[in-house]
Formats: sequence, C-alpha cells, structure tokens
Amino acid sequence: VLSIRDLKKNFGSKEVLKGVRLDVYEGQIIGYIGPNGAGKSTTVKIILGLEEGYSGQVTLFGKDISDSSVEYKKRIGYVPEMADLYDNLTAEEYLTFMGELYGMEQKKAGEKAERLIGLFGLSEVYESRIASYSKGMKQKILIISSLLHNPDVLFLDEPINGLDANSVMIFKELLAQLAAEGKTIFYSSHIMDVVEKISNRIVLLHNGQIVADGSFEELKNQNMEGSLEEIFNQLT
Ligand code: ATP
Ligand code: MG
Repeated sequence: VLSIRDLKKNFGSKEVLKGVRLDVYEGQIIGYIGPNGAGKSTTVKIILGLEEGYSGQVTLFGKDISDSSVEYKKRIGYVPEMADLYDNLTAEEYLTFMGELYGMEQKKAGEKAERLIGLFGLSEVYESRIASYSKGMKQKILIISSLLHNPDVLFLDEPINGLDANSVMIFKELLAQLAAEGKTIFYSSHIMDVVEKISNRIVLLHNGQIVADGSFEELKNQNMEGSLEEIFNQLT
C-alpha cells in the first residue's frame, strides 16, 4: 500500500528525516513509534502531501504522492496530531460537512456519524458547538471524522491524545474491528501502550532513522540484549 524510499527532510540545517525506507502492506497494523522529535509526524505529513520540500520517493496505492489525485485521498483517513476544528459548527454540522467533502451521500454520512457519535458517548452534545467541547471530546470528533468515509488506509498521529481510559478502550476495540476488516493502519505515537496490543509490526524511529522493525516480541528481545534500551525507556 505504502512505499517509502530514502526519505529525507530538513528544517533549516536540522536533518529531521535521514533516509527512511519503509514498506507497508495491505492489512498491516503498523506502530510507528519513537521519542518526541524523532520525525514521526513529519513522516506522516509528507505521506499525506501536507509537507513540502523533501527528497526521496513515496508511493501510496502504487502512485507517487506528488501526483496525488482527489480520488485517492478519499481512500485515506487521517487523525492529525493537532488540528483546528471548525469551532463554530456543531459536531453534527461539522461531520455533515466532512461527509460532503468526501463526496458521500448525506444520509449515509449521517448514519455513520451518528453511530460513531453514539459509540464515543457524544450523543447528548452532538448538536452543541464544538467550541464548547473538551480536548478529549474534540479528539473524538477528529477520530470520527477520519472514519466517516470508510477509508482503506488510516493514518493516526497520537490518536489517543486526551482520551480517558474508557474511551481508549472503545477506540482499541474499534481499531481491532477495522483490522479485522482488512484495513491498513499506520499508528504513530511516542508511547508503546495500545500499539503493542493492536499492531502486528512495530517500526522504531529515532533521530530521523528507523532503528528497529519487527513484532513487539522481537523488539522486546532486542531491547533485552541492550541495543535499544536508551530509546525503549522513553516510550512510556
Ligand atoms: P512528537 O512525539 O513530539 O510528536 P515527532 O516524532 O512527531 O515528535 P516531528 O513533529 O516529526 O516529531 O518533528 C521532528 C523534528 O522536526 C523536531 O525536532 C521538530 O522540532 C522539527 N520540526 C517539525 N516541524 C517543524 C517546522 N515546521 N519547522 C521547524 N522544525 C520543525
Ligand atoms: Mg508527532
């Protein structure tokens, strides 16, 4: 689904990505893990065409991202690390608007939105302005919005930011369901929790380079041999 070759990115004189090479296959649940500043969000933003000025090659669905079309964007769901929601809209208005952007039939978008709103316990505030939402509630709207159009590939950047324990559990179950449906999930985070349970593959990024790639068990063994210790201890 996704192929990254020799991806490099500088911000000024700082090398943030130093030649990332990664292949992600359909149906994989990848944990893209690394300490703060490792370059995770930058990688995701480049893949989604939200960050200019990189070198290397990135293909998604077999096409170079530089000639991206609207059509393939419809197959992608994205939960950004930070986002400005349209605060003046109610969640209902916002999700209706997102459904339209995705080119969905209004009824279908509405049903899906309501189901997810219910799942995350937001039914009572569905018609309230997003401005009145808490941080965690806004995060749930981002998650719901990313799933509305039933995307094939999901990019999640620190998706559980601000979610309480119960909501994290609901979210984990939702991810397990999506995984069972064969979706591809690219889960970027600085914490191993959640990811170690749902991912079948963990890619460890450190200072702009991939330093390990394997199952959680494999990484744990590698860690016990001492080579990853310094990084591993930062991922809680
Ligand atoms: P976190 O766990 O904190 O989210 P991350 O792995 O997602 O970290 P990035 O956000 O990709 O890290 O940032 C990687 C590096 O690039 C950091 O050193 C950051 O300061 C730098 N950086 C990111 N965006 C910019 C920008 N727009 N301008 C300058 N430097 C940037
Ligand atoms: Mg980040």
